Amino acid sequence: MNVQGLNLPIQYLKGVGPKKANLLKKIGIETVKEALYYLPSQYEDRRNKKSIFEIKPGEIITAEGSVVQINEIRTKTNLSIIEAIISDGTGFLKAKWFNQNYLKKILKEKKKLKLFGKVQIDYRGNYLEILNPEYELVEQTLNSQTQEIVPIYRLTEGLSQKQMQSIMQTAVEFAIPHIEEHLPENLINKLKLPTLKEAIKFVHLPPNNADIKLLNEKTSDFHKRIIFDELFFLQLGILLIKQNRICEKGISFNPEGDLLKKFLENLPFKLTSAQQKVINEILEDMKKPIPMNRLLQGDVGSGKTVVAVAAMLAAIECGYQAALMAPTEILAEQHYLNISSLLKGLPINTLIYTSSYNKHSNLICSGAVNLIIGTHALIQEDIHFKNLGIVVIDEQHRFGVIQRAMLKKKGLNPDTLVMTATPIPRTMALTVYGDLDYSILDELPAGRKPILTKVIEPENKKIIYKMIAEEVSSGGQVYVVYPLIEESEAMDLKSATQGYEGLKKLFPQYKVALIHGKMSAKQREEIMKEFRNGDIHILVATTVIEVGVDVPNATLMIIIHAERFGLAQLHQLRGRVGRGLRPSKCILLPYKLTEEAKLRLRAIVNYSDGFKIAEEDMKIRGPGELFGVKQSGMPDLKVADLIKDQSLLEIARNEAEQLLQEDKNLSLHPKTRASLENFWKGKTEIFMTA
Ligand code: ADP
Ligand code: MG
Repeated sequence: MNVQGLNLPIQYLKGVGPKKANLLKKIGIETVKEALYYLPSQYEDRRNKKSIFEIKPGEIITAEGSVVQINEIRTKTNLSIIEAIISDGTGFLKAKWFNQNYLKKILKEKKKLKLFGKVQIDYRGNYLEILNPEYELVEQTLNSQTQEIVPIYRLTEGLSQKQMQSIMQTAVEFAIPHIEEHLPENLINKLKLPTLKEAIKFVHLPPNNADIKLLNEKTSDFHKRIIFDELFFLQLGILLIKQNRICEKGISFNPEGDLLKKFLENLPFKLTSAQQKVINEILEDMKKPIPMNRLLQGDVGSGKTVVAVAAMLAAIECGYQAALMAPTEILAEQHYLNISSLLKGLPINTLIYTSSYNKHSNLICSGAVNLIIGTHALIQEDIHFKNLGIVVIDEQHRFGVIQRAMLKKKGLNPDTLVMTATPIPRTMALTVYGDLDYSILDELPAGRKPILTKVIEPENKKIIYKMIAEEVSSGGQVYVVYPLIEESEAMDLKSATQGYEGLKKLFPQYKVALIHGKMSAKQREEIMKEFRNGDIHILVATTVIEVGVDVPNATLMIIIHAERFGLAQLHQLRGRVGRGLRPSKCILLPYKLTEEAKLRLRAIVNYSDGFKIAEEDMKIRGPGELFGVKQSGMPDLKVADLIKDQSLLEIARNEAEQLLQEDKNLSLHPKTRASLENFWKGKTEIFMTA
């Protein structure tokens, strides 16, 4: 691209000036180039207008009518909603805007208003409604424009749709002569992409014969080309980061004995084929003389621990130490017990090291122990390993990149295996963990039964007591979970304690216990041991049991204040039951339901597959919020949507890989390289030395 022309500050574009430039800045437009990538959120089709009575839910429409009513609503969570009802004489349509308070100054009764957006039925089933629609106040003057398909832009306070359209048109017309192609020519030919110039022009100034449906879905070839661009440069950068890592020297593990074989023969079950496959992937990777950096993703209960142990044994057999780091003491304790029993009879010295079990760091240093399980206590400065060969990090979403790096520094470029139960759609993984290699356990051990999940209102609490009694009397065990919210830990502990006292009174014939994060490790361990042995019937807990805990005989999970939990958290919690052969249940007890909480509970009731749940979560919260895309240092995506554009992302990934294979540092493609640096500017300069 011609940098000067396109980098013109938008203020100097004809018809803009400092005042409008300030408004444009609020929506992220400071240069002409940024304007080009501010795509219309919708298109108005002036060729066929619809009356309101013709509109069906699910359609993306343009509707015009007079405002008959304006309401301002404030929710309990202090969200402001502006609601406008319009009518054209054939029906009513309701628009709702969230947190756009300035609209009440603009929208007045009797004014003519055009709305653009996707129509649905409101939750009472009475109205057609559009959420956060684009809008245009219709002026009296006759419209003289000849354009039949008109782009509609997302606005900000102080800018009208007409002004925005005019600025964008000027920007595009100004920019066209300056736009240069920056993708390799053979890539354009191969994928039959329109040129960048054609694409920019088409999306902002669509010709009259364009397909309105493709435009509104943003799936026209021209939209795809622009989205592809963004994803391609994203993936190129990620792959270059990875390429740099591959230049480091690591340990080549070539275990020749039969330790692993013995371990597998000792297991009380047969590996699933997914476990088998993933173990092979990891062992192959460990053989290479470069540091392994692998993400292992597997839904709750898919059996990641066994895979981790297999990898650690490979390193131990080659004379190295292995470390497993877990996010909580409870989990470290459980891993320690579990893994010790899995390794019974094998010549492995296992040690637990956490803030409560911190007596034996000398054994780590001397090499007397070769499998060390712990918490982040392991990364304290005074801990030295004799020869750390592999690091396994469990439930990764609790560790930051920095902690990961610190543990790695305890050895000389050890292999790293990061395990997570947070289901990450592949496209997300390619983005957030795109520099890591990726294995997935996509199969649960046989015999797992679906968990019946139900919402029960507080007024029907009695049903829950009955369920608890039934479950325990038929030999099962129960978790009752209370939320723990950081700013009021003391209060939440109080509610868990009260719940515990209440249940003790209700069920004097059963053993009820309480477990929480403030207890000493000894106490917790004692309680978990009793629960595992079946001596405790009802375990009241804060979220300390959220991850990893594995007691197959626990078959009923009650989640108090279910509305306070995130979707991923609910999925994790529910995963604590359904681990044995008995059918399990999960009961959600919500108190105050917001709209968003309703969506969350609906998703957890309807879906059991972690991937599906993650997708729903992304729909509710947006992908950036999850998986730390925003915190990961990645460039912002302006046009691509990591959920909707999954297939384009895959193509972009493959093409980026191929290009780097042919031209390792893009020296043959200077324009591509220049755009790449521009795209990643200020984000990471590391790979630019490649
Ligand atoms: P997660 O992936 O959630 O960490 P775990 O490793 O804790 O799962 O395994 C969950 C449970 O399933 C454990 O009780 C474990 O012993 C058991 N398990 C693991 N692999 C298999 C298998 N192939 N067949 C049967 N049970 C298995
Ligand atoms: Mg686990």
